[in-house]
Amino acid sequence: SRIRVALDGPGSSGKSSVGAAAAATLGYRFLDTGIVYRAITLAAVVRDIEPTDEAALVADVPELELVADESGNLRQVRLAGEDVTDRLHVGEVDRNVSAVSAQPAVRAALLQRQREVAAPGDVILAGRDIGTVVLPDAELKLWLEVSAEERARRRAMQRGVTFESEEGQRILADLVRRDHLDSTRKTAPLQAAEDAVIVTSDGRDFDETVTEVVRIIEDSAERTAGA
Ligand code: C5P
Repeated sequence: SRIRVALDGPGSSGKSSVGAAAAATLGYRFLDTGIVYRAITLAAVVRDIEPTDEAALVADVPELELVADESGNLRQVRLAGEDVTDRLHVGEVDRNVSAVSAQPAVRAALLQRQREVAAPGDVILAGRDIGTVVLPDAELKLWLEVSAEERARRRAMQRGVTFESEEGQRILADLVRRDHLDSTRKTAPLQAAEDAVIVTSDGRDFDETVTEVVRIIEDSAERTAGA
């Protein structure tokens, strides 16, 4: 039966790549909700809007369009018709996205959009507050866990620098700072839902983590069908 899967966890826990791979295996649609917050942040940076100017930030939400690729991954973001996908992970967006995401009006405006994507089921939404806020009634909630150091190593590698380099250490400091901001903010702090299944990817390689996630989702879909 058609289930909605909430896949949450801290930054660079691998939610996005694990979720996309699991969704492709299962034939589910996939949305990494971080790109939605990044798109609004990019709009703010480009238009010189303060990350605290809620009204101006929210005004950009209707301009936002999510486009699926062949495998059902809604990975392309258009802003006022322009494809901005390649610009969502630049440093300026990294530095401002926590402040933008902390605005309650921004989160409220993006809530409906995320629920619309999830409604038909057979879908994985990756994020930080999917199980707690966006889909509190999701049929399955997963929390992907991994140490900050392991995450910084991965992100450094993606950027073609070593973990030990100055840039690598800056990535680690940035992650720790962002985790802290995200877990202590008042609105929708980063935390596992009480009824979430915890999956640890430390000591597991990518394929093993994906296999484990797929297995849990298939179990849940079967159980939901039997219920
Ligand atoms: O996952 P990613 O690093 O792309 O997310 C970027 C930022 O978007 C996070 O640091 C967080 O502030 C925000 N975010 C959020 N809620 C989500 C997804 C992302 O607040 N569901």
